[in-house]
Amino acid sequence: MDVQKIRAAVLRRRGGPLKIETLEMEGPRDDEVLVRLVASGICHTDISYIDQWYDASEGPLVLGHEGAGIVEKVGKKVKRVRRGDHVVLSYQSCGRCRPCRSGRPADCRYLYDLNFGFKRPDGSNALRPSGVRGHFFGQSSFASHSLATERNLVKVPKNLPLETLAPLGCGLQTGAGTVMNSLAVPAGASIAIFGTGAVGLAAVMAARIVGAGPIIGVDIVRSRLEIALELGATHVIDNRREDVAARIREITGSGVDYTVESTGDDKLYQLAADALNPKGTAAYLTGVSGPGSLSQGRKALSIIQGDAVPQSFIPRLIAFYRKGLFPFDRLEKFYDFRQINRAIADARRGHSVKPVLKISKA
Ligand SMILES: [Zn+2]
Ligand SMILES: [Zn+2]
Repeated sequence: MDVQKIRAAVLRRRGGPLKIETLEMEGPRDDEVLVRLVASGICHTDISYIDQWYDASEGPLVLGHEGAGIVEKVGKKVKRVRRGDHVVLSYQSCGRCRPCRSGRPADCRYLYDLNFGFKRPDGSNALRPSGVRGHFFGQSSFASHSLATERNLVKVPKNLPLETLAPLGCGLQTGAGTVMNSLAVPAGASIAIFGTGAVGLAAVMAARIVGAGPIIGVDIVRSRLEIALELGATHVIDNRREDVAARIREITGSGVDYTVESTGDDKLYQLAADALNPKGTAAYLTGVSGPGSLSQGRKALSIIQGDAVPQSFIPRLIAFYRKGLFPFDRLEKFYDFRQINRAIADARRGHSVKPVLKISKA
C-alpha cells in the first residue's frame, strides 16, 4: 500500500495548542479515497475534544470533520468519485447495518465508533508514528490529506470555492437538516431556536426557507442575534437579559410549535420543552435526550446530523445557496492553516461564528 507524507495539526495536550507536524499516512485501501484538503471548518465538537474530552493516555489526535478538497487517489472498489473530483466530507456510516440499508445513515448502529473511535472499522490506524490517531468522522481534516470513503464524500460543483463549501459537512447540515428533515417544520409553524452559532443560524435560514413564522432566535451574543435577524429570525431574545419564556408568550400569544436547542445550557434545556405548544416538538442537538414524560402530546427528540443523507442533502443546500436562500458564507471567517490555534481561540470567544482553515490552493 502507498504511504504519503502529510502535514497535520496534532493534539497532544488537553487545552491545546495544536501543533502542525509531518506524519505518514498509508492508504488508500480498496474502499478508501485519498483527498487533498483545500479547507476545513472548525466545529464545536473539535473544540470540546481539545478543551474537555482529550485523554492523553489514549494517544495524540488529529481532529477536524468539516473537510473539503480534491480527490487524489481512489481504492479499487470506489465507484462514486474519481481523481480530480471536488468533494465535501461529512460524517461516516457503515453502509451495512439495517438503518444504513434503509437510507438512514444518521441512525447507523456503528455511528459512535466510526466517528469518534479514531480508527478504521477494523481497528487499524493509517497514521505513523504509531499511536497518533486519525479517522475522526472518517476524515481528520485538520491536515493536508484525509482518508475518507464513498459513504462520507459528497461530490460538489467545481465552480464554487471549496473553502466556502467546507462547513456544509457537519454544522450547517445539522442545523438545516433538523428543521427540514427531523422536524419537517411546515409553513406557518412557530419555532424558537436556542443558540445562534453556526448550527442555530443554519436552522434559522432553513426555517425561513420552509416558510415558518414567527422564527425566534435566542442567544447571549448580541452580534449573533443581529445576524439571526438578517438571516430570517423575526424576533430575537437575549437570554442573559430577558425572560425567555415570558418573551415567547408575548410574541406568539402561547408557546411555539417547535424548539431547537443547540446551546447545552441547563435552563434552556428545560425551557425547550416548557415553551412548546401542545403537540409541539423539541429538538436537542447536543447529544442529550430531552426531559421525559411531556404532557399533551409534546415530544422531545435527540437529533444527530439533522437526519441528513449527505449525498442528497448537501447538494440541496448548495442549490438553496445558489438562489441566495441559504447564505451560509456570511458566517464564515477564513484563517490560514498555520493560524489554527487563533481560529480556535476566536471561536471559543464567539468572535467567529464559523472559522474555516485554508489548507491548500484548489
Ligand atoms: Zn461538527
Ligand atoms: Zn450503519
